[in-house]
Amino acid sequence: MRLEDIKGLGTKRIEKLKASGITDPLDILLLFPCDYFDRRAVIDWNALPAGSNVIFEAEQVRSPVLRHIRRGLSYVKGEFESFGTRVVCTWFNQDYVYRRLVLGGRIIVSGKLKKTTSYAEISAPRIIADRDGDIVPIYKLPDGLNQKLMSEAVRTVLGSVSLKGYVSEEAAAAIGIMPVDRAIKEAHFPTDIALARKAARSAAVENLAYTLCLYRLLKSDDKRTRNYADHTKELARAIADLPFELTRDQRSAIEEIVRELRSDERMNILLQGDVGSGKTIVAFLAAYYAALCGYQTALMAPTEILARQHYAKAREFFADKNISVACLTGSTNAKERSAILDGLSDGSITVAVGTHALTGKNVRFRDLGLTVTDEQHRFGVCQRGSLENKAGNADNLVMSATPIPRTLALSLYGKLKTADLRQKPSSESCIMTAIVPESKLNAMYGYIADKARSREKTYIVCPRIDSEDGISASALYAELSRGALRGVKVGLLHGRMSAAEKETAMNAFAFGDTSVLVCTTVVEVGIDVGAATTMAIFGADRLGLSQLHQLRGRIGRRGQKSYCFIVQGDGEVPERLRFLCGCSDGFALAEYDFDSRGAGDFLGTRQHGTAETFAGVKIDADMLRSADKLSSLLLADPDTVKAIASKADGREEFIRSLSLN
Ligand code: ADP
Ligand code: MG
Repeated sequence: MRLEDIKGLGTKRIEKLKASGITDPLDILLLFPCDYFDRRAVIDWNALPAGSNVIFEAEQVRSPVLRHIRRGLSYVKGEFESFGTRVVCTWFNQDYVYRRLVLGGRIIVSGKLKKTTSYAEISAPRIIADRDGDIVPIYKLPDGLNQKLMSEAVRTVLGSVSLKGYVSEEAAAAIGIMPVDRAIKEAHFPTDIALARKAARSAAVENLAYTLCLYRLLKSDDKRTRNYADHTKELARAIADLPFELTRDQRSAIEEIVRELRSDERMNILLQGDVGSGKTIVAFLAAYYAALCGYQTALMAPTEILARQHYAKAREFFADKNISVACLTGSTNAKERSAILDGLSDGSITVAVGTHALTGKNVRFRDLGLTVTDEQHRFGVCQRGSLENKAGNADNLVMSATPIPRTLALSLYGKLKTADLRQKPSSESCIMTAIVPESKLNAMYGYIADKARSREKTYIVCPRIDSEDGISASALYAELSRGALRGVKVGLLHGRMSAAEKETAMNAFAFGDTSVLVCTTVVEVGIDVGAATTMAIFGADRLGLSQLHQLRGRIGRRGQKSYCFIVQGDGEVPERLRFLCGCSDGFALAEYDFDSRGAGDFLGTRQHGTAETFAGVKIDADMLRSADKLSSLLLADPDTVKAIASKADGREEFIRSLSLN
């Protein structure tokens, strides 16, 4: 079964689904509702404070209105009644809503409450489909897809497939979860809200257990087969030749790496250090050591931009060492690609830098000794595993700017060693972080325009591409270039642009005359633009503290005094964002995140593995314990191990099979 086989999904809608990562029917089933609405719940409008998120069912009491104000600006207004209160809803630039509103009709909407003396007001509420049953699931969907369509798609898929997970009824009962086939039904067609929430939690635990199994299977072969000779003299010379002194932590990290390489066991080191702590050079030195011993190194970065940046730096580092470096990414052209593949298999290329293109089936190394994975939390376990497995038993160095909380590291990696870079090469961080309420936005833009005039650069980060709630990067870009930042050269960068477009936008910002870059979180990792001294972040509440900390690490790279503005509504500032303003220690932020948001942010799994996609279920220490137990149960059964291992190179999925009825 494919998405195309689902009734009601045309080409356009399928494109939208695919763009947001939903590529097959299973993804539809795994898009758990983010909330539920209980029709029977009575709303006491008078008791609700302004700013509350409300969901309610209402009857339309006046004909809807559609007005076009000027080009590019229109609104639809509807008036409803709910438990005796008049509620006015307004949608901007969403003319299609007009067709869905009928006098006397009933709809379910959700949104943020504004209050006036005589009525309640909600702008841009989300419309939730009319559905049978007392409990209505609410989905978080990309623009242009509606709740009703989603419900029907789920019904179609569920009706035509049967699902099977890895966990037996007995195992599920022992852990206190629902097996995934039942969980999926309950989540989409709930009989009870508490059960539906348990369903989401169960699926999250099962998914996590599956991830833990993958990690454990990955590390089953620990014997060393390579022979690392003593080349510490050459290494010391390379270190002496660097344009800077290594920090003490960098020094001990590289010593630890060499010690591990020369030991009898396969190396697995997690190198953790804040943004700017200088992980890259440690990786290059490790690659150099491997090269001295005759082994190749593959360095994998999560994005094209980052891979290219590493490549440029690697070329510089290896230039006088007679070691050849190549870069392989998804956009490497066919001719270059085949030359690189030849070079890797005959050994004439020693260091390969690239994206997950390095894990491709026809990429063969002559003798891959070391794999380095940068910003590992951005990769799925499978992607990492497929690189590590390529070498049979290569030594592995994994680097992360998001320190992994200790409890989590222990269950994920077992005896993996960690090396921490706690010292920063440049003295103190000069990044000030401040909350900017919406009422001060204009002052902030004035500051950014001033900076542009003195040739300093600014990132404006907007996590969303679409505008389901909150402003999107593209909309903000359009608004600023016409409005507050008119006369300043503004650029746009988001993940849905083609690789070439991204590169052009990034280059114009890094080297050209773009002064302000409006972007999604694609700038998150590793990017190094010296003149960037200001960052404004919208929608910070949907990002983890570690991620925010990484983002602000993009500015003040040369030790300049820099400002990071967190743009917030005019209400109360969340505690965690205040914590971020006062703390510049990535390790402390990671622990705080883990305590408050759960483990979702730290797991390298993509869509279904994150806390957000599991109906806002955050992976807490308790779930981790359950998953830990469950994974041991799973790994105790040889059949299950075989089944999981055979899938480990493919898609990460905790669904064992999905077959057509
Ligand atoms: P990250 O750990 O975030 O990946 P990088 O490896 O990109 O950090 O290093 C950030 C910058 O610091 C780079 O420009 C790098 O050349 C520089 N750097 C690394 N180590 C040192 C050091 N010991 N002294 C001075 N600068 C350093
Ligand atoms: Mg880096």
